[in-house]
Amino acid sequence: MRKIIKITAFLLLFVTLFLVSCEKEEKHSLNNLDDLAVIATHEETTSAPESEAQGKKRVAITFDDGPHNVYTKRIVDELEKYGFHATFFVVGNRIDGGTYNGSSALKYAYEKGNEIGIHGYTHKAYYNKCSDEVYDSELKNTEKAIKNVIKNADVRLMRPVGGHITSERVQQSKYSVILWNVDPEDWKYKYSSGDSDEAAAQKVETIVSGVMENVSEGSIILMHDIYESTADAVCIILERLFEEGYEVVTVSELLGENRASGKKYSCG
Ligand SMILES: [Zn+2]
Repeated sequence: MRKIIKITAFLLLFVTLFLVSCEKEEKHSLNNLDDLAVIATHEETTSAPESEAQGKKRVAITFDDGPHNVYTKRIVDELEKYGFHATFFVVGNRIDGGTYNGSSALKYAYEKGNEIGIHGYTHKAYYNKCSDEVYDSELKNTEKAIKNVIKNADVRLMRPVGGHITSERVQQSKYSVILWNVDPEDWKYKYSSGDSDEAAAQKVETIVSGVMENVSEGSIILMHDIYESTADAVCIILERLFEEGYEVVTVSELLGENRASGKKYSCG
């Protein structure tokens, strides 16, 4: 009898564990499906018939981690040569002061028609792990820092640090959450003081080919406007994109009417 009870208890435990693991698996895949659905909606509807009519393939270049007093301004000047516009996801405490001294660069980028989005205030919090208090203050303080410089800024976009954010926070966000689908990993190829001219040129070429070999119409490209090597690469990338018939537009322009708050976008 005792043996039967033991076996029954063991079977019950096994079935319970099995059901729990199924539920976890289902939750996981549902989240993924949600994400995919949003991306799919975007894929179906954003390849711009308007841009086809103009004969231009539209892409968005996004710059994280600035604004930087020198390199952001240089990138903005390069964009202006072609009538292009980019999107800058900024770090609040780099606007307010610190080594980047970014407030004038932020104003400059905005006044030249570029779009400004939120990255984070300290760049130290991951939005899939931090508390609600930290999450709220990272976003609010960054928006406040932007509006201290650009009074009427219409901040619609957010790029989570590292691309990490929970599905719940995406859904509840007043911003559109913008990821990327082309990543040349430019931060890996910043110049070091000991670089020879050849080594520096090789780094720039690696960043350039990381973009040019992967770009296609509707791409959202990720770069960082705080490195000299990135600014050098951007000069070449813009020229090549222009020659290949691309137009570089802001993320809001790329997404057009399909952009909505509380949704995540990573490719077109
Ligand atoms: Zn970042």
